[in-house]
Amino acid sequence: MWGSYYNDLLGWGFGCCHTTTKNSMCSGEKGKKEALMREVRRNRKILNNILRFKLVFSLKKYKEKKKRDEEIKKAKEISTLEK
Ligand SMILES: [Zn+2]
Repeated sequence: MWGSYYNDLLGWGFGCCHTTTKNSMCSGEKGKKEALMREVRRNRKILNNILRFKLVFSLKKYKEKKKRDEEIKKAKEISTLEK
């Protein structure tokens, strides 16, 4: 039955096979499994992208902090020389 299944990204589909294409043939349990695998793969891809983004972001933050620390260190050295 159309509308007995809902996917966050693909929208409404059939509950019997998780097909989100309204006019497609019913692919039964095999289609359901394939749809599930597609979803798992897609979620993994999204997760990987998020993790990669977080890694790049934290690396950038780390570099910025290191640079700031060096500047502070340098400023301290200069101020001790001036005394
Ligand atoms: Zn079906």
